[in-house]
Amino acid sequence: MKILVINCGSSSLKFQLIDSETEAVIGKGLCERIGIDGRLNFTPAGKDKIEREVAMPDHNEAIRLVIEALTDAETGVVKTLDEIDAVGHRIVHGGENFTKSVVITDEVIKAIEDVSDLAPLHNPANLIGIRACQKIMPSVPMVAVFDTAFHQTMPEEAYIYGLPIEYYNKYKIRRYGFHGTSHAFVSERVAELAGKPYDQIKSIVCHLGNGASISAVCNGKCIDTSMGLTPLEGLIMGTRSGDVDPSVINFIEQKENLTTEEAMNVLNKKSGVYGLSGDVSSDFRDLEAGYRKGDEGCKRAVDAFTYRVAKYIGSYNVALGGADVIAFTAGVGENSGFVRKLVIDRLGALGITLDEKANEVRGEEKMISTADSKIKVFVVPTNEELAIARDTAALVK
Ligand code: AMP
Repeated sequence: MKILVINCGSSSLKFQLIDSETEAVIGKGLCERIGIDGRLNFTPAGKDKIEREVAMPDHNEAIRLVIEALTDAETGVVKTLDEIDAVGHRIVHGGENFTKSVVITDEVIKAIEDVSDLAPLHNPANLIGIRACQKIMPSVPMVAVFDTAFHQTMPEEAYIYGLPIEYYNKYKIRRYGFHGTSHAFVSERVAELAGKPYDQIKSIVCHLGNGASISAVCNGKCIDTSMGLTPLEGLIMGTRSGDVDPSVINFIEQKENLTTEEAMNVLNKKSGVYGLSGDVSSDFRDLEAGYRKGDEGCKRAVDAFTYRVAKYIGSYNVALGGADVIAFTAGVGENSGFVRKLVIDRLGALGITLDEKANEVRGEEKMISTADSKIKVFVVPTNEELAIARDTAALVK
């Protein structure tokens, strides 16, 4: 089957066409600046990237341009739209309504709308993507794959906040967790690499990208994760603060004369390693370069980031009653041996030792701990699009 995977944001849309039998990417691309001016890039498998500026007033037009790129007589990868068997949509928040991926129906759309106030920036954009696809491909089955679904197995003690219980009862305020598709994909793959059945292994998955989260997965089920009601909680991220005392928000509102919205914008967009470095960069390539040159801000940011990751690993090791494996994934986790080493060097108390040569790996599956390390450590590239395509193919078969 040919599965079109759509990841729709408020002004961007990423897409991949995947052959579900061979799991090969047939073509992929990105629409940017939707509603502003419009930019499209498309890479047919094995060929050069095609880039163009093209008016994209709304998501309907973006989807139409995606289909046009996929079916183009010269550079396209399918002859007609009919070759697309199904569409898989990444949906950020499923609330408590969705514990797994589902075929999209009117009821599913309504349920996604119902939890939109939990992800006001993301769910409405995801819904626009669904509707735009339905308009252009009305008879093609579509599947919703939720970032939150994998974490729905967390026990109450892990997901509940220490707030008056009426807020949970009335508004469902709790930890949900995100990056679930990646945590599921990587925890399953690391079990294979470690040679253990998925339902008999305890793993800690460190998804370290621009957004970053950690999860504890026990025998195939997530038992805890670092992101919360929204993706702001947990690790220090590219520009997000991660865990802070909630009183900080009120404090900076008063001191800096900010509205709550402005203070939240600081926590989401101006904090994290970017803010800690003194606005040098949110990109770990820049931070590593600065760190090596002795830049104080870069050192501060990297040290705080790696300390927080190690702290979460320690606590999830306790939650799991002793982890068997740790996996590093996403942009930083897959590519930065520098960051991995700084994290693992902090884990001596767990009997973990790094194989420095193996840790030179970038973007490939590899065990990076020594043979006698008490917990095995792996690099496992994530592939959220493939995970979405797999779920979609399984549900529409
Ligand atoms: P993601 O959100 O998973 O796409 O990750 C993006 C982030 O990965 C970037 O902001 C960089 O911080 C980081 N990254 C990508 N490539 C490298 C690299 N070669 N070395 C260090 N960090 C990298």
